[in-house]
Parts: sequence; structure tokens; C-alpha cells
Amino acid sequence: MITSKLKTKIAAACLAGTLAVGFQGAASPVAAEAFSIGSVIGAAIGGAITSAQVNDAISQYNNTEEGRQQYFQSMKERYGVNDDPYLNERLGSIMANLTNAIGQVDGSIYEKPYNYFINNDQSFNAFCTLGHNMSVNTGLFSVIENEDEIAVVLGHEMGHGQKDHPAKGMKKSIGPQILANAAGSGLAGIAGTLIANTWNNQGITKPMEWEADNLAFEYMTHSPYNPGACAAVWQRVIDKGGDSKNSGFAHFMAGGSDHPSHSDRRDNYAKKLHEYSGKHVSVQGGRVQVNGKDFVAPAASAGMSGAERSYFVAGNLAAAFRNGHSSSAATVSGSIVMLGAQPIIECLNGDESAQTLADRLNAIK
Ligand SMILES: [Zn+2]
Repeated sequence: MITSKLKTKIAAACLAGTLAVGFQGAASPVAAEAFSIGSVIGAAIGGAITSAQVNDAISQYNNTEEGRQQYFQSMKERYGVNDDPYLNERLGSIMANLTNAIGQVDGSIYEKPYNYFINNDQSFNAFCTLGHNMSVNTGLFSVIENEDEIAVVLGHEMGHGQKDHPAKGMKKSIGPQILANAAGSGLAGIAGTLIANTWNNQGITKPMEWEADNLAFEYMTHSPYNPGACAAVWQRVIDKGGDSKNSGFAHFMAGGSDHPSHSDRRDNYAKKLHEYSGKHVSVQGGRVQVNGKDFVAPAASAGMSGAERSYFVAGNLAAAFRNGHSSSAATVSGSIVMLGAQPIIECLNGDESAQTLADRLNAIK
């Protein structure tokens, strides 16, 4: 969908393209837009680039349909595309769920739908850049297997996208000199410089990180996913790499001494979950509590620590309090404790029995 604002930009881009060089053919708005990125930078090659030209180039890639598609192609060429059918199907399904969830709170997503691909990098990262272009590292899928947790990471990136953080960060962090040097290698150099800036996460500030985290929680609560996955994925990161801000992962983990620590981010999500449950559910040191009383300390199982699992249990309980299932009695279905129609925990090796937990839940809920 093209908004009236975008139409204005396209018209302006047409004019710029026509003036710069004898543009061949029936200048479709889309083709002329792509051309105008060249004209912005083309003017700079012969002389000093200005901050206004940097901002123009960023805006072209960010706001015009042709610019953002061109940027997307440059990203694919730079990082390589992993066509693995299983991973791509998983990603497609998560993106569809998140798009639907975000659409419930921010309809602007349908005006600039996200482009995404899986790149071949084996480290743990995902990023969103100009023009709602996203890429997920292959390595992310080996660190996080759980679909709900992957959705948290992507929801965080889409939070950045919905608030236009990539363009804002770039405009602040890319100086005219950097882009002027890149301009010598033409359009590919410009796109490459902007893309590299994204990978390094420059210009993303601490308040932007918190905003993206909080938006991810909001999106998750409008999705089919477990809102407890928000705290759980940070617990997983801590379990795998420690609480140091510099323990590895590029954008999602990103860095800088002023950024929030992993445990701060986990605890922010745990607090939001507590509020979402109507203050009935909390997690204290791996123990899930209902109305301040211990319910369960899940065992480590299914590739997760007990602490990581505790947030999923808390997320299910929070949903039950939220959607009214908490007024029903807790029951047992096979190895699963149910509260009304809401599954709460599947009892695995090392857990107490489902009946024990159901009885306890009935006593404290
Ligand atoms: Zn971020």
C-alpha cells in the first residue's frame, strides 16, 4: 500500500532523476526512485558530501519502495542466502504470526511489509535495517530451537523497525566523510557502508533497546506465543554465555557499555509478565509463585535450564489469569497440568508429578 506521504516522495524522486541525466524510457515512478539514490550520491563523488545528502541517501533506502528493495538485494549479496527449506518455513510462519500480532496494535506495518531472509552467518544474530529489511543468521537457529523464543528476538527487531530506529541511528552515527569515502565505489559502496553500519549496531541507543524490548512483549501478547518466552530467551542467553554484555552475540546482544545487561532485560520482562498476570504470577530464583506462594521449581529438561522453563510456566499461568481460565479447577491430562483449557506445565523427567502440582495449584490460586 502506498500512502499519500510516500506518493509525494515518489513524485519528488521522479523529478530529481529526470533532471540529473536523460533518464531513458517511460520513467516509471519506481525506476526513477532507484535512480535518484544514484543522483544523490553521484553529486557527491565530485565534491564534498553533506550531512543533508547522507540523510537523503538513508531516506531513499528507508522510505521508497524501490530503494528498500534495492537495499534488500545488496544485503543478500553481501551476506549470502541460506535456502534451507525447513528453516525458511519456520521463519515464514513466525513472521506471519508476528505481522498479524503487530497489525493489531500498529496498522502501519501493512504499508511497509517486512522483507526478510536467512543469511549464512553461523553466529547468533538477527537484525532489522533500513526499509523494514531483516536478516536472521543461520546461527540463531542453533542457539534457540524454541519457536516462541525466536519470535521474541524477531519481535524485538521489528520493534526497532516500527519505530524507525535503524534510520534514526544511522543518521546520527554515519558522518558525511564515511559516506563520501564509500561514494568512490559507487552505489554498491554506499549500500555496503550503510549495511555494515547496521551489522555493527551503531547508533542504536539504550532507550531504543528498551523500547524495542517492551514492544516485543506487547507483540507477543497479541500473538499465539507464550509471553513468558521474553524472559526465558534472556535466561537462555545467560545460561549459555554469562551475564556479560560482551559475551558474544552481535546486534541482538549488542553492546556498548551503556546498554542494559542480559539480566536487566530478563528482569524487565519478568516484571511485565507479573503485571500482565494481574500480579498473580511471579518467578523467584527458578521458583514459579502464584499469589506469592511457591507452585513449582521446574527441573532442567528438554534442553532448557529449570530457570528458563520457569518463565514458560509463568507465561502459561499469566495467560490463564488473563483469559479467565484461572477460575476453573486445575486438572491433569496425561503428564500435563491444565487450568481450564490452558495448559500450564508438561511434567518431564525430574519434575514433580502432574497430580501433585495440580493439587498445589488448586490450593493457592
Ligand atoms: Zn535491539
